[in-house]
Amino acid sequence: MNPLSSHHIKGIGMTSQRTRDRLIDRLRQQGIHNEQVLEVIRNTPRHLFVDEALSHRAYEDTALPIGFGQTISQPYIVARMTQMILASGTPSSVLEIGTGCGYQTAVLAQLVPQVYSIERIGALYQQAKKRLAELELYNIELRHTDGNGGWPNLNYRFDRIIMTAACKEIPRKLAEQLNEQGQMVLPYDDSKEQVLLKITRKNDDFESEAFEKVSFVPLLPGVG
Ligand code: SAH
Repeated sequence: MNPLSSHHIKGIGMTSQRTRDRLIDRLRQQGIHNEQVLEVIRNTPRHLFVDEALSHRAYEDTALPIGFGQTISQPYIVARMTQMILASGTPSSVLEIGTGCGYQTAVLAQLVPQVYSIERIGALYQQAKKRLAELELYNIELRHTDGNGGWPNLNYRFDRIIMTAACKEIPRKLAEQLNEQGQMVLPYDDSKEQVLLKITRKNDDFESEAFEKVSFVPLLPGVG
């Protein structure tokens, strides 16, 4: 929908194509089979989403600190959740809670027509906004607010919602912004462990399905 232009993909210096290929091989081995997702991850410059001091580690399959006690998600989990979001066809829009550095946002924006993303920490919101504009990804709308309340003043519902911070209770207002048959993918903390959960809206009720264990920073209330 807005593939990163080639000057962003090539000429990266520190990050050789081989390093990226290794990451893609690893994701494949871990069960990521959606070729579009793999291609977008291969071509998204993850080193631009982390501090320069950490950029040499940007293509390792690991989470990294981004300041403010937050992290950039592990490429595997970004791929996994994106693959889940696309599993039953390309949605027309996705709402993300927890923009952070904007990496997951950038991946989604290359696969779906419109992405909305909310971040509660002002400095991260500002940084992500600048970075995503520099990458010329224009099908993204960002808000600095508390994602617990969903997208502010919405007269519209989403096909998919992705939450990238772990919650102990699914925010009701947020879930209500899903379309009928809409799905939300999120890390859910049952106080013993975090698992990946998929919620599907059906006849004004919600069905849930649990997947593997995950490790995310917590969903917090209010703005920072
Ligand atoms: N999507 C990011 C992951 C960011 S980590 C990536 O691609 O790497 C999770 C983010 O969720 C943090 O930036 C944190 O500040 C944010 N967050 C936590 N609680 C939130 C809330 N209630 N509303 C919006 N963002 C929230």
